[in-house]
Amino acid sequence: MPTKPKQHKHKFRFSGWSGTGAETLVRFRCCHGTSGLGWCSESVERLATPVEAAHLNQRFAKPPRDRDIHAVAREFDRKFRDYTGKIASTWKKTGYALMYAVERWAKKYPEDVRLVSCDDSYFTGSRLVLIEHRAKRSYMGTTLISIPQLSDNPCEMFLYPHSVEALGKAMRDIRRQATPLEKQEAEDVAEESRVTQSWRFSDDKKKAKK
Ligand SMILES: [Zn+2]
Repeated sequence: MPTKPKQHKHKFRFSGWSGTGAETLVRFRCCHGTSGLGWCSESVERLATPVEAAHLNQRFAKPPRDRDIHAVAREFDRKFRDYTGKIASTWKKTGYALMYAVERWAKKYPEDVRLVSCDDSYFTGSRLVLIEHRAKRSYMGTTLISIPQLSDNPCEMFLYPHSVEALGKAMRDIRRQATPLEKQEAEDVAEESRVTQSWRFSDDKKKAKK
């Protein structure tokens, strides 16, 4: 259990604010002990000075009625998942029916929903769905859903920014390694076609011997 640190002189740091204009309050919290157990966390607040209030209200004021950061993902859940009476949700549709419905729905959100074609384990055309958790001034991460056409139920996971970054890096590395191989393969195919294009087939055994 964390314990209060021993006698110390509080080290207050800015920790938040509330209110607007002349009513703006600034809050400070003691950061003593934050590097180990026993964070003091004593909190105090005071009215902001006019300069502080102007700064906070201009720079950090959230735009009024900014949209819920999870709005698009929540709509996806409402439309395609069924939560009634269950702890874990089930899918209202799966496979091709879900792919088709999600593709139609995604047209409403060209900047928030991305679809990537892929194959499932039966080699049938499937989709990866990427849904942004983004508001006007913030980004929390991206939901990734795979919708196989035949092989399985959809599967969903959440990528925080560091995971998005790591996935992007892995994909770029894969492409970098694949590009010379693809080039070599194209050259091999072209070479084979050059060599074999003059070859002819004949049933005539005498001619074939020549
Ligand atoms: Zn303290």
